Amino acid sequence: PPVAVICVGMAGSGKTTFMQRINAHLHEKHQQSPTTTAPPYVLNLDPAVRSVPFDSNIDIRDSVNYKEVMKQYNLGPNGGILTSLNLFSTKIDQVMGILEKRCLPQPSPQQEQQTAPPKPSPPTSSSTPLAKSKSSSGSILLSALASSFPTVLAYIIDTPRTTANTSTFMSNMLYAISILYKTRLPMILVFNKTDVKGEEEAVEWMRDFEAFQAALRKEEEDAMGGEGGSGGGYMGSLLNSMSLVLEEFYNALSVVGVSAMTGEGVEGFFEAVEGKRAEFDREYKPELERRR
Ligand code: GDP
Ligand code: MG
Repeated sequence: PPVAVICVGMAGSGKTTFMQRINAHLHEKHQQSPTTTAPPYVLNLDPAVRSVPFDSNIDIRDSVNYKEVMKQYNLGPNGGILTSLNLFSTKIDQVMGILEKRCLPQPSPQQEQQTAPPKPSPPTSSSTPLAKSKSSSGSILLSALASSFPTVLAYIIDTPRTTANTSTFMSNMLYAISILYKTRLPMILVFNKTDVKGEEEAVEWMRDFEAFQAALRKEEEDAMGGEGGSGGGYMGSLLNSMSLVLEEFYNALSVVGVSAMTGEGVEGFFEAVEGKRAEFDREYKPELERRR
């Protein structure tokens, strides 16, 4: 079966641009070898997006009107998004029916009851990118997907922004951790916008706790006008107590640098996806089956 890739990340990290990029990449691959590579099957799960710069096969906006939801339930933008996703997640059975029909091999006509009309053989997709996912409706969608497809999270990060200082970096990592532990799915950290700033510093901060602490100390020194920070303070002690959790988290992840804008690193992303597919089959699928 094809892999389902779900793009998540903070606002402005580049999810939409990245979706556009991998969508174009997969269509190109399909055109180069139509018999061995299927085109992607694309879902947009962002109810509030004004326009989607790529064709999607299923769009949440076709079934839920975000503006109407806000009005009807008297909600702000965030509540509107969550409620729209909740409404959409009540239709998950229908969505899965379509996905399974479109993306999974179907029984051949001979194996079906004789009264059933033969089905056209569906295109098998090499990837099923999704646009966004949040909170409880998010986990309904994700667990439904993961029961039929190897499912991988792509956590998109605005590299220049997140490496501007250690606390932005850490809040981004904590957000990723919370998603990882909530969903329990394999995750790829996608350091995006490498055309502006490479992923090397971020990767060093992940792999080498002391390098991160040194950066933190330097920030504290700079803030105190060169008076020599201790690496103590709130962030310092939080980090020290978290270092084991962080290490375990970082070890569980694949990390890639990409530019959604230029396409740099996209091949590496798909290599990471294949690695995570294997991990899903090996570790996550048996666990999902146990829990069912
Ligand atoms: P989303 O909110 O996560 O969907 O983020 P968008 O895809 O809308 O991107 C947010 C902003 O970052 C836009 O102005 C994009 O043009 C820009 N952006 C996205 N990816 C890249 C990239 O790889 N390099 C650069 N330089 N800008 C990017
Ligand atoms: Mg977007």
